[in-house]
Amino acid sequence: MIYANIAGLSYLIASVLFILALKGLSHPETARRGNLFGIIAMVLAVVVTLANTDLISNYLLIIIAVAIGGAVGAAIALKIKMTDLPQLVAILHSLVGLAAVLIAKSAFYAPERYGIGAVGSIHLNSLIEMSLGDAIGAVTFTGSIIAFAKLQGIMSGAPITFKGQHALNALIGLAIIGLTIFFCISQDPVVFWIITALSLLIGITLIIPIGGADMPVIVSMLNSYSGWAAAGIGFTLQNNLLIIAGATIGSSGAILSYIMCKAMNRSFLNVLFGGFGSGDSSGGASSAQQAHERGANVGSVEDAAFLMRQASSVIIVPGYGMAVAQAQNAVKEMGELLQAEGISVKYAIHPVAGRMPGHMNVLLADANVPYDMVFEMDDINSEFSSCDVAFVMGANDVTNPAAKDPKSPIAGMPILEVERAATVLFCKRSLGIGYAGIDNELFYRPNTMMLLGDAKDTADKLVRALKGVSH
Ligand code: NDP
Repeated sequence: MIYANIAGLSYLIASVLFILALKGLSHPETARRGNLFGIIAMVLAVVVTLANTDLISNYLLIIIAVAIGGAVGAAIALKIKMTDLPQLVAILHSLVGLAAVLIAKSAFYAPERYGIGAVGSIHLNSLIEMSLGDAIGAVTFTGSIIAFAKLQGIMSGAPITFKGQHALNALIGLAIIGLTIFFCISQDPVVFWIITALSLLIGITLIIPIGGADMPVIVSMLNSYSGWAAAGIGFTLQNNLLIIAGATIGSSGAILSYIMCKAMNRSFLNVLFGGFGSGDSSGGASSAQQAHERGANVGSVEDAAFLMRQASSVIIVPGYGMAVAQAQNAVKEMGELLQAEGISVKYAIHPVAGRMPGHMNVLLADANVPYDMVFEMDDINSEFSSCDVAFVMGANDVTNPAAKDPKSPIAGMPILEVERAATVLFCKRSLGIGYAGIDNELFYRPNTMMLLGDAKDTADKLVRALKGVSH
């Protein structure tokens, strides 16, 4: 009884901390505090659960599992590159899905241990909860593995489509629903396993037609699924904290997917069935000579430094290329040197710049760029027309005016209107395409100067040029 009261209170505190963690993570300034709340909540939840001596019969096994899992997690966290985070998130979601499947199976085969009835006479509500947790968990498991493989380049990022694909998915979906109803009536283990197998299959068939460019939306959607799977299992385990945490993850993942779709001006159904983006960002003309031949104006680092020195305002637009090159510290130093000369410097962030939501905010925060210099798209777009230099650092799609053409694959996506600046400096390695796989005519405009090269290398050279050091 005393344990039940302490556990209930601790779970309530942990639930509140999880919600505060999410709130904190919604802004870079409070993100570290949010993270800390999340860690405290998780430690509290684990300790209180482990303290339930009625439930746990073998502590040694748990300690060994925690030690192995903790060591693997720590090793990955230390090694992972910032640009590889989306695939790490995907593979971690697959484990949440797998855990949901395994708990559902264990509850089905040992219902007495969970207080949900006996073999062959499990309570109806528990049967519904466990079959939902099992099915959503299985979809999350295989779907996340496919998302990981596409993002990691193990599988091609191009959409894999075939005739009758949507009909097949609809058929499998209907079969899962029908079998779930039959399972709740019959409690037949074979039917339960068939539901799992079909759910594993639909996880694959749903995700393979999705193109690389949409994968971050899908990762966020799978995040949402993993939350609902956890909430479903929370009901089976009669664990309020798991229900609250699962529902919080489920709804926040769904909201994030919605926000990402909105930022790309696409419907969620279009993301699911649209087959958009190749996942490869291949190069175009990469030498200055080739770029000239295609009509682009290619400048040197010295030209760029001169132009920026003459400016009274510079807006820096970071994109995926800055992340790949890890150029954020050099970019920040460049901004500081310009500020020291009395030039106004601001950073403009597009909501889907990079490869995950908040990608650029995290990189700039990592480089200690003050938050008051960083502006969201809607707040800064009106300033491009009065700014002297828009410095685009490894961004492409998020500046591409093709979005205004209704026939373009990125039609309707709001963009950072860099073309309105007096001069646009584009730092990238070539005239190649971005993630959406389409050309950017800004490279050929008279007020654009291309700075061809790696973002970090170019930013380092610019710093030296602004300091007046020859290289
Ligand atoms: P893009 O993918 O459009 O462009 C990035 C550019 O960076 C490329 O054209 C590439 O050109 C250049 N680049 C690559 N490596 C380097 C390097 N080492 N140094 C310098 N430049 C480099 O990125 P954006 O950030 O502009 O746009 C993001 C795209 O991702 C959008 O299409 C968005 O819809 C999509 N997306 C983003 C999501 C998110 O959550 N952030 C979610 C879903 C989709 P080059 O090869 O010539 O160097």
